[in-house]
Amino acid sequence: MFAGHFGLAAAVKSKQPRIPLWALMLSTQLLDVFFVPLVLTNVETIQPVANTKGGYGEVIIHADYTHSLIGALLIALCAGLIAWRFWGKNGGLVISAVVFSHWLLDLLVHRADLAILPGNLGNLPRLGFGLWAFPYISIALELVLIAVGGGLYFASALSRARSQAADQQRRSRTRAITAGTVTCLLLALSLITDVMGIG
Ligand SMILES: [Zn+2]
Repeated sequence: MFAGHFGLAAAVKSKQPRIPLWALMLSTQLLDVFFVPLVLTNVETIQPVANTKGGYGEVIIHADYTHSLIGALLIALCAGLIAWRFWGKNGGLVISAVVFSHWLLDLLVHRADLAILPGNLGNLPRLGFGLWAFPYISIALELVLIAVGGGLYFASALSRARSQAADQQRRSRTRAITAGTVTCLLLALSLITDVMGIG
C-alpha cells in the first residue's frame, strides 16, 4: 500500500506546514526503504500467496527486521531523534509517529506475517488483520487515505496561498498610502512655497 501511506503523509503535511513534504513522504515509507536492500540480499522476502500471481495484496511478506513491531518502533525512534535536530521536538515526535504509522497501516492489510520481535525471535505469533484478502476493501481504504490526505493538503496549500496574497495586498496598500501621502505633502509644500513667493 504505497498510496495509503503517502495519503497519510499529505494529511500530516496540512497540519504541520513546517516539516517539508519530502521528509513526511520519506518517513511514511521508511520501513519499506530499509526493506528494499534486505529483500535484494534475501534477508527479508516477498512470496506470492499460494495459487495467486502475487498481484495487489496477494503476497506474504517476511520482513522480520524492518517490519517487526519492535524493529519498526526502533526505526521510528531513530528517525524522530534525527528529525528533532532539524525541526525541533515537535517535528521529531511527528516524524516518529509518521514512521510508525507505516507499521499500523501495514498491520491492517498484511496477512498475519508481521513479527513482534526482530528476526521473529521466540517465534511469537505473527500479526496482521489481512484486509489484503479482500482487495476491494483494502483498495477502498487506500482510496479514503489518498482522498482525505489529498483534500487536506489541497485545502491547506490554498489557504496558505490566500494568506500570502492577503499579506502582499496589505504590503502594497501600505506602500501606496506612503507614496500618496508623500506626494500630497510635496504638492502642499509646493503650494505653500508658491504662496510665500519662494518658488
Ligand atoms: Zn511496508
